Amino acid sequence: MRIVLDKSKCSSIGICESLAPEYFEVDDDGAVIVKREIVDDGALGVVEKAVAECPAAALALVKE
Ligand code: SF4
Repeated sequence: MRIVLDKSKCSSIGICESLAPEYFEVDDDGAVIVKREIVDDGALGVVEKAVAECPAAALALVKE
């Protein structure tokens, strides 16, 4: 699975970073960086949770 971020929706709250810091980072300017787009099978659960809990619906998971 691959992470897709819609930066225009992101409100920089950082829930994704707190749930899955290996995959998301909020930089000093408040911009979210997807550190790794491709999700390892072992991390799928935690990334799915981060996607589901994004309050701005800025994140999605798509099949490769
Ligand atoms: S949880 Fe959603 S709105 Fe919050 S920083 Fe991450 S992508 Fe942006």
